[in-house]
Amino acid sequence: EWINVKQEMRGAVGESKFTNWIEPLVFETLRDGVLTCSVPTLFIGNYVNQNYADQIVYLLARAGQEVERLSFVVRNDETAGPQQQKQQPAAPAAAGARRGVAESARLEERYTFDTFVVGKPNALAHAAARRVAEGGPVAYNPLFLYGGNGLGKTHLMHAIAHDMRQNRPELDVLYLSADQFMYRFVTALRERKMMDFKHFFRSVDVLMVDDVQFIAGKDSTQEEFFHTFNALADAGKQIVISADCAPGEIRDLENRISSRLASGLVVDLHPTDYELRLGILQSKVEQYRSQHPELVVADGVLEFLAHRISNNVRVLEGSLTRLFAFASLVGKEINLELTQDCLADILRASDRKITIDEIQRKVSEHYNIRLSDLIGPRRMRSYARPRQIAMWLSKQLTNRSLPEIGKRFGGRDHTTIMHGVRKIDELRQTDSAISEDLEMLRRTLEQ
Ligand code: ADP
Ligand code: MG
Repeated sequence: EWINVKQEMRGAVGESKFTNWIEPLVFETLRDGVLTCSVPTLFIGNYVNQNYADQIVYLLARAGQEVERLSFVVRNDETAGPQQQKQQPAAPAAAGARRGVAESARLEERYTFDTFVVGKPNALAHAAARRVAEGGPVAYNPLFLYGGNGLGKTHLMHAIAHDMRQNRPELDVLYLSADQFMYRFVTALRERKMMDFKHFFRSVDVLMVDDVQFIAGKDSTQEEFFHTFNALADAGKQIVISADCAPGEIRDLENRISSRLASGLVVDLHPTDYELRLGILQSKVEQYRSQHPELVVADGVLEFLAHRISNNVRVLEGSLTRLFAFASLVGKEINLELTQDCLADILRASDRKITIDEIQRKVSEHYNIRLSDLIGPRRMRSYARPRQIAMWLSKQLTNRSLPEIGKRFGGRDHTTIMHGVRKIDELRQTDSAISEDLEMLRRTLEQ
């Protein structure tokens, strides 16, 4: 059966893909609906799992074999089938018998470099990601990407993985989110499989961990992550990390870890600007139109959206998706009127966006001090405390980064802002007058 399925796959995927991906699969076992194949590298297993698993399962079913899913093990070099003796460019001498089950987190197909729109706010991050995908210099290791929600961190990480899988297929690329890392760690502990866990993570060539802030404060996971990180870094393997803020700003992350994370290249994705938002909208409309040529978008609609909708690209995309759905439903062109009707809630929410200016104004009114004193250099408690409160509110209620907030507070350093935010965090636990003030200010600002 397996041989037949392989031959059918040859017809389905074409000769070159067949040689690369399907031919190396060797049937091992079929048990409880799980068909296990051995593969020469983890990477091939990953790739097949993501791209061909459904098709293979389908063909097997048609041949009368009930298979629920595929599983892959890496075979030892000596047991590699004779057909594997191709001129593999000196396969990286794997440490002993490398065995592991291929399971990188699923990559979103759309998240490639091709679909990533580059503008001023993300140009550096994009360039760094490109270099790393090509095999960047040591100075780029680890690459640490950070920025607010929906600014493209995950997109760039997936793009790196896609690019490496295509152009440097000899590498084992493992992408996963920090909570998946934690989940696997906890499972390994419970099932007493720590050796497997360590072996698995230490045998990859490239490790990418998304949203690393999630393991901060989780002591044993943090510890294990640190060891994994060090083992790979010491072996010269590329590491890519993302977080919602800079390494030193991640709360409850040990210093030795954050300084290690910051030891390579740290780049941030800035909040989008008008130009970038417009570029992204245009690109998404183009992509959609290539499938749905009947779509008509009136002049000015995209400009309107780029002006009115917030930083977060996810919200921007959501708005377009809704517009497309609506337009196809009622068979109309997308004009300004339709846009305003259809997106009324999103537009309203974006309008409510709180700015640092507003926060500073409200705080100075509340404490009855001048705006210039709130922002200025004077250190008296009667200015310093409200200033810290305004910093805290800016951190909480806007998606500005600490350096940006610093700029708006008379060009202060981000560490000063961080100190202010921490101070208020402490005080609000113990000082009820402050915590009530904070609540009140927050409520009035959010109205
Ligand atoms: P993050 O991980 O930083 O929260 P994501 O990478 O998930 O953000 O991005 C959110 C959405 O916005 C995704 O669908 C992504 O494709 C899209 N996106 C973000 N930045 C860009 C960009 N520069 N070009 C195209 N799409 C983008
Ligand atoms: Mg993300």
